[in-house]
Amino acid sequence: MSRRAATPRNIYVPKGPSTWHEQFAVAANGQRQSPIDIVTDKAVFDKELSDNPLKTYYSNNCCQSVTNTGASFQVSVDGEGTEISGGPLGDTYKLLQFHAHWGPYLQNEGSEHTVDGVTYPAELHLVHWNTKYKKATEALDKPDGLAVIGVFLKRGKEHAGFKQITDLILKIPGKMNKAEIKSNFDPGCLLPARRDYWTYLGSLTTPPLYESVTWIVMKEPIEVSVEQLAALRTLLWETNSGLDKMFNNYRPPQPLQGRVVRASFTSGSCTSCIMARIPTWAWGALSVGLGAVAYTFSQMA
Ligand SMILES: [Zn+2]
Repeated sequence: MSRRAATPRNIYVPKGPSTWHEQFAVAANGQRQSPIDIVTDKAVFDKELSDNPLKTYYSNNCCQSVTNTGASFQVSVDGEGTEISGGPLGDTYKLLQFHAHWGPYLQNEGSEHTVDGVTYPAELHLVHWNTKYKKATEALDKPDGLAVIGVFLKRGKEHAGFKQITDLILKIPGKMNKAEIKSNFDPGCLLPARRDYWTYLGSLTTPPLYESVTWIVMKEPIEVSVEQLAALRTLLWETNSGLDKMFNNYRPPQPLQGRVVRASFTSGSCTSCIMARIPTWAWGALSVGLGAVAYTFSQMA
């Protein structure tokens, strides 16, 4: 793998994620690649997660602009005044940006994570970086460098908060088009009311696929309208036949490689009851082990 390898102009078409290993070996031989299929029966309730809830603080003036990156939209954030901690996080993380992945018109594919094989039409990613590092670029490839909150989008009623973003997306069809966010916007409005989540150690889902992400995938989706999903597809990207509507900008689930997915909530199944009795030191040992494996790997890569 070469971290200096140039990223293709469009990483999703025409060849797509199945060819990423040609430039980024970790795509094929990584130990903690993302996304994954979350098998709910195998997710293990961890009482420490419910005892120490995930805390999220966002300010309503931290979001600066929305850009068409050629692979998604991206809202750039001034992390000052934003902070997440608790739950699976041993440190404090700041919001860096958020973006999404989505599928075709009226289809249910588009999310990167799947739940028992079920996909959603889209998935939001709020990307945070660990403030124990001096800057986000330094955190990017560290095993504990990033924390990404994933939120599934499902079709339903219009989302008033997200409308502020989708209205701006309509103004940035071309790659690197950018719109300033001039009025207050609190990214916390994109989180579901219920904060139940699954968490596991994974990676970026786009090249260079660094294995640096603590994933926090919200169980409850948020509702957005068909029109708001359609707004995402007004973004254009480069294809072999010229500019075209942007969709199917997602990576499919990757092998779990023995990783444990923890849940912040009980599902009520007996498996969860039994697993909840495993002492907390055992979980600590397990995550330290996974971290060490990832760290070793990142040094080798
Ligand atoms: Zn993403």
